Amino acid sequence: MKAVAVRPAARTVELVDHPVPAIEKATQVALRVLEVGICGTDREIAAFEFGTPPAGAEHLVIGHESLAEVLEVGAHVTALRAGDLVVPMVRQPCPHAACGPCRASRPDFCRTGAFLEHGIRGAHGFMTERLVEEERFLTIVPRALREVAVLVEPLTIAEKGLLQLFAVQSRLPWACPHADAEGPGHCHRALVLGAGPVGLLGAMALRARGFETAVFSLEPDDHPKAQLVRAIGARFVSAATHAPATLARDLGPVDVLYEAAGASRLALQVLDLLAPNGVAILTGVPGRHAPSDFDTDAFVRRLVLGNQVVLGTVNAGPDGFAAAIADLETFDRRWPGPLRGLVTGRFPIESFRELLLGPPTGIKNLVSFESPA
Ligand code: BGC
Repeated sequence: MKAVAVRPAARTVELVDHPVPAIEKATQVALRVLEVGICGTDREIAAFEFGTPPAGAEHLVIGHESLAEVLEVGAHVTALRAGDLVVPMVRQPCPHAACGPCRASRPDFCRTGAFLEHGIRGAHGFMTERLVEEERFLTIVPRALREVAVLVEPLTIAEKGLLQLFAVQSRLPWACPHADAEGPGHCHRALVLGAGPVGLLGAMALRARGFETAVFSLEPDDHPKAQLVRAIGARFVSAATHAPATLARDLGPVDVLYEAAGASRLALQVLDLLAPNGVAILTGVPGRHAPSDFDTDAFVRRLVLGNQVVLGTVNAGPDGFAAAIADLETFDRRWPGPLRGLVTGRFPIESFRELLLGPPTGIKNLVSFESPA
């Protein structure tokens, strides 16, 4: 079967012929991959910035955002059956008995660093026709979400951030009045940095909870991403016309800063917008640039005197996957056009080279193994 793989040692990105996997354990599920999302991480792996093949292999099959259909289940599979739609998890637990999070099925909080990630680190990914996976790493998705379910994995990044936000803020009286009717965030202001898929999905998740939300990103004001932001009731602030230093004047203090641009300098620069008791959620993984001077005293003074939290977050657990599916249903009800507008192209696997190595285009482009039902 066809798969897209990188060979880091030879520095090649190729379409390879991979053996079709078969169920070997009663707890496993055989899957047909329907769609795989391309993200910045895939493009960085294809540029050999990172990405590690499985032990003993020279190549790594890439792809970690996917939607698949169950073909066949092992004898001990309990909740899934042929025809179900599922999204596989990216991270696999480390083997260490002392890793509490991994032993509790929370490899997203692995503390040994020995976790694996499908398509990224030590485990083959999903950009291939068939998979076999343990049932416990699969999340079932309602059929009604078929067209957008490949967005579940990138959305889990935002969901894990927001789950932690509300957990962190339970440290103080932060809850909004009338939270049930207007959303738990309606009395707070959020700023999203970056209008890539993780930024836009994060903006939707914030708006769905009632946050007054602004998105700051590079695109001009008339860009489709800017229109999409406005269509979900958020404000778009273009970096083409607004310097980060003017944001304080334009927006006022923000209670939640959600960073999804992978731009560390910008994130730290914008931290001075954070209101007292505010939380900055950092999701982007910055590339390595030259070290910069940074006013550490001002940074720490503001954190301490403002009771602020800067929170880094990666990957997601089962609660993030469940929240993503619930939110996709909400987004589909409230903003069906903008939600579907996030998927800007479906391409055959043979287009892998343009998708991974060509100039970035659109919002979320997919490799599709079939035309949508
Ligand atoms: C993926 C995460 C993963 C992270 C770090 C992201 O692109 O969405 O699941 O943990 O990369 O490898």
